[in-house]
Amino acid sequence: MKDVDATDFRPAERIEQLGVSEILAIGARAAELRASGRDIITLGAGEPDFDTPDHIKQAAWEAMQRGETKYTALTGTAALKKAIAGKFARENGLDYRPSEIIACAGAKQVIFNAMMATLNPGDEVIIPTPYWVTYSDIVELCGGTPVLVPCAADQGFRLSAAQLREAITPRTRWLMLNSPSNPSGAAYAAEHLRPLIDVLLEAPDVWLMVDDMYEHIVYDGFRHATPAAMEPAIRPRTLTINGVSKAYAMTGWRLGYGGGPEALIKAMSVIQSQSTSAACSISQAATIAALEGPQEFLAERAEAFRARRDLVVAALEAVPGLACRTPEGAFYAFAECGGVLGRQTPDGRRLESDREFCAWLMETADVAVVPGTAFGLPGYFRVSYATDVETLRTAMARIADACATLA
Ligand code: PMP
Repeated sequence: MKDVDATDFRPAERIEQLGVSEILAIGARAAELRASGRDIITLGAGEPDFDTPDHIKQAAWEAMQRGETKYTALTGTAALKKAIAGKFARENGLDYRPSEIIACAGAKQVIFNAMMATLNPGDEVIIPTPYWVTYSDIVELCGGTPVLVPCAADQGFRLSAAQLREAITPRTRWLMLNSPSNPSGAAYAAEHLRPLIDVLLEAPDVWLMVDDMYEHIVYDGFRHATPAAMEPAIRPRTLTINGVSKAYAMTGWRLGYGGGPEALIKAMSVIQSQSTSAACSISQAATIAALEGPQEFLAERAEAFRARRDLVVAALEAVPGLACRTPEGAFYAFAECGGVLGRQTPDGRRLESDREFCAWLMETADVAVVPGTAFGLPGYFRVSYATDVETLRTAMARIADACATLA
């Protein structure tokens, strides 16, 4: 038999437009430099540095001991759905029946199932920009067309009602909203959501996907709001997404969930039934403990993130040429670097773009951050501050020192 080599490999057309995630590529470059002996600080990761709390690990162990190691009901065990319904009711004022809930292998799969189950070729999905890259890539994988609407720092990285109205066409199927946002950290308070909901009420064919993944990581008394709870008329066409990855430091457990109208959940479960089947039984048990167990540590962790945010924002603001809006939540700062672009490095190179700036920071300052271009908005870079204060201090000093060498 002839050896199969790379030249024989033909990817499907549907993945041809999708590149390898820039975040992963930056991580790989950082790992390469680290392997060569360089002390690279990576501020690229989208996961908390905290560990999963012990009571959650314990619940997983007990579930295994009880023999909960088999396939479960497709959309989640009855006990998990009860815990999820309880969470939605308690924290969001949302009333979802078990048939309106689906548990998946991460919130990412909830989004994937939803798009796969609803998009036909050419259907449009409105995505406020900057956005989590997965949104547009999933839309494209599912044959849809992402409609990217730039929302820069001067509008708080939030979509306005006028922009939404303008972006809606007869082909629009969904609006994707993420609050607090990855990558900008910006969050929509009820007063920001209301005008968007009003526009959607005039556009009855447009559905709303709300990604509340970072709802517990908010600062300065910010009150998280979610559209399906705010407006009964929008609930029948809203998918509310959440998960345990960020709040409970459970990224590796792969458990996310969605609440929405039964017909949508049913269609999503068809996709799931022929891809992954039910989420991991042990992770489902652990998630019950996360959602029904002690919640005090959420605020403590948010407070730790707030201190880091303040450190990072102040440090970036102090660098001539950089600017950083104070984010309301998540663990990302999305800083402007327009003021350093066009300037020259000591070895005579002109930094022409956010990509070049970030590559230069990695090569000369040993700090890895992600260019705004990777999130659809050039002229910015994302700093993930999900790491300890000492490391953040060092990283910020390195960025400041590097920028001070620019002519
Ligand atoms: N939504 C947003 C905005 C995210 O940043 C992430 C993780 N990067 C997710 C959803 C997905 O989380 P998971 O699949 O781990 O549940």
